[in-house]
Amino acid sequence: MTHLDKQDNRPAPPARTLQGIGVSPGIVAAKVVVLKRQTLRAGWYHLPSDHIEKEVGRFTGAIRAAGDELLLLREKLADDLDDALSIIDSHLLMLRDRMIVERTTGIIRHKSVNAEWALAQALGEIEERFDRIDDPYIRERFADIKHVADRVFGLLSGREHEPFASEDQPVILVANDFSPEDTLHMQAGNVQGFLTEKGGITSHTAIVARSLGLPAVVGIEHATSLLATGDSIILDGGSGLIISDPTPAEVQRVQESIRRNRLLADELDSYIHLTSETKDGLAIRLSANIETLEELPAVLRFGSEGIGLFRSELDYFNNRQPPNEEQLLATYQRLLAAMAPYPATVRTLDVGGDKFLNRFPGNKAWLDRERNPALGLRSIRFSLYEQNMFRSQLRALFRASVHGRLQILLPLISAPAELRQVKEIVTAVLAELAEQRYPVADEVKIGMMVEVPSAVVMADVFAAEVDFFAIGTNDLIQYSLAIDRGNQYVANLYEPFHPAVLRMIRRTVEAGHACNIPVSLCGEMAGDPLCAPVLMGMGLDELSMRPAIVPRIKRLLRHSRSDELRQIAGEVLRCDDSEQVRDLLAKQLAGIYPREFYQR
Ligand code: PEP
Ligand code: MG
Repeated sequence: MTHLDKQDNRPAPPARTLQGIGVSPGIVAAKVVVLKRQTLRAGWYHLPSDHIEKEVGRFTGAIRAAGDELLLLREKLADDLDDALSIIDSHLLMLRDRMIVERTTGIIRHKSVNAEWALAQALGEIEERFDRIDDPYIRERFADIKHVADRVFGLLSGREHEPFASEDQPVILVANDFSPEDTLHMQAGNVQGFLTEKGGITSHTAIVARSLGLPAVVGIEHATSLLATGDSIILDGGSGLIISDPTPAEVQRVQESIRRNRLLADELDSYIHLTSETKDGLAIRLSANIETLEELPAVLRFGSEGIGLFRSELDYFNNRQPPNEEQLLATYQRLLAAMAPYPATVRTLDVGGDKFLNRFPGNKAWLDRERNPALGLRSIRFSLYEQNMFRSQLRALFRASVHGRLQILLPLISAPAELRQVKEIVTAVLAELAEQRYPVADEVKIGMMVEVPSAVVMADVFAAEVDFFAIGTNDLIQYSLAIDRGNQYVANLYEPFHPAVLRMIRRTVEAGHACNIPVSLCGEMAGDPLCAPVLMGMGLDELSMRPAIVPRIKRLLRHSRSDELRQIAGEVLRCDDSEQVRDLLAKQLAGIYPREFYQR
């Protein structure tokens, strides 16, 4: 058995544990400091009429001071913290928001009350509106408004900013919530990690923690009462597990794992700038799968040679209306410019199936009524049905193409007729752009995802029609083994090493190469150290994965010889069940990469 086997047999957690949501990976052990922060519990007082304008002035002064603080923080930030910068910018905008500023000054004037009370009232009204929103992502954005209001509230009441930076012992901070700016302040101190009662994986605080590499767990109810300053804990920002009062043996295990991770990270760092090729010079592109521009710094930091899959859905889900062409253009322009001269592969809208239907704007009620959404109007089928939306995405893509090396990827193609229809639309869009005198890059490659069995069977036909294939094993496994990828009852049957899956990958690679087109793979398999050597041996030209795993896969590649990889893939392809594949790999890989795969 290798240490990379499926992780479902983890030991049951010991009794002294709290389970939260791990939002930023890393394990740390330290004493906690609980910050019982004063929130908007404002006192009320009535103002004489001649004090009202002075009170409005005190409030607008606090708004200005909050803006100055944010600008100062912004200036101090390193340039590569793009995501943190854009969050601060959005907070600066909120300081000008009517719902906060005008409503608060209105309440001061109409009710003759103090600014703290008026601000608390305005915030309460905003919260009520957010509570009525179904979309959890948008609902979560209320936290940002509250962080901004908290800052203003603190300034009104003369509260100093809590000095995270002055902690001289390593500490883990615990609070009801932290703002993204708080998280940035932690960077300067001896803060090893944090945990909060509030928050979720997509909260901006979590995003900043991830980009700083600061381990964090959120969503532990009553954490500020359950833990007290001075308590020792272990915090696992990956699994979300907190162990309080750890035994010396547990602390030692954590320290050992921190030491090993540090060594591994240092070692992997040295691979970031090396080329991705085998010992004998076979190059395989290792690229990144991302969903937001916020991930770009990580893509560059971990040395990906391009974007193998940009999932373009978020621009559609974050808005109440489908985004317009200009909004999409802004996203694609930034993406392409940041990645140039490497290619950036943007997949057209892949809505439907398991992809957040409840978050899709425009009240497409009929989508919600689909009885079998995985087999319904999803991905390219949706784009061909809602052609205006599709045209607008294509226009934005082609207009952005002059800013870098664009590749367009079409999801869930299952029949040649779909490709023909797409081509007609592309031709019309290009003619329209030419007429409107928009420049378009000379070469924009158009490829298709191979993620349904019909695409594999017809791969020879499709290969003559597209510029590249990208195999989407997440869906290919779902559709070929008839296993809903989101259903926990059949999750144990979801098997990348099923011989049928392996043979389909092989067949697609052969069909692509017979037509001289490159074949990439961007399902989760690509970034799995156990699968990657097999995929390399099958002849894939590119593996696309989450950015942080790239150095580890690159190390595997650079320790391999192409004939060894081909031999492993050949043996794996001769197995007739997945257990046999796993047994074979456990033996073979432990021999070739002893430090990556060890046998117990
Ligand atoms: C896939 O299906 O393998 C894939 C990469 O796309 P997604 O996970 O977005 O469906
Ligand atoms: Mg897919």
